[in-house]
Amino acid sequence: MDDCIFCQIVNNKLPAHIIYQENQVIAFLDNNPKEAGHILVIPKEHFSDLLEIPASLLATTIKAVQKVAQIINQKLSPDGLNICQNNGLLAGQTINHFHFHIIPCYQKKPAINKEDLQTIVKILKK
Ligand code: 5GP
Ligand code: ZN
Repeated sequence: MDDCIFCQIVNNKLPAHIIYQENQVIAFLDNNPKEAGHILVIPKEHFSDLLEIPASLLATTIKAVQKVAQIINQKLSPDGLNICQNNGLLAGQTINHFHFHIIPCYQKKPAINKEDLQTIVKILKK
């Protein structure tokens, strides 16, 4: 999908702070993070939402979510993790390429600024 921002990230036409990838899935930092280490996990192939994505690719994607959650947990030591997934404009979906949000929660404000994506990507990839 030429006009899809996430397809452009998959195809290296738009930059992103990629922290994990495998054959069918890629994960990168959200550029307007709710918390430090807010990550989006997406299938590389374009499907608009939960209703459209094939079940087998959904399973592959959620397994990647677990792997990325383990990386976040190990490197950023959050106190909890929210996994969210919006479907449809009214439900808050702004990008029509299926994605999971992984949003860490912290009891105390972390030392790293949530907007400092360069530092966060370095920590996550160490
Ligand atoms: P939604 O609201 O569709 O569930 O989530 C879309 C997310 O994509 C938002 O949290 C938004 O900040 C993020 N986002 C939008 N455009 C870009 C972009 O160009 N790059 C990155 N890394 N994230 C984006
Ligand atoms: Zn797309």
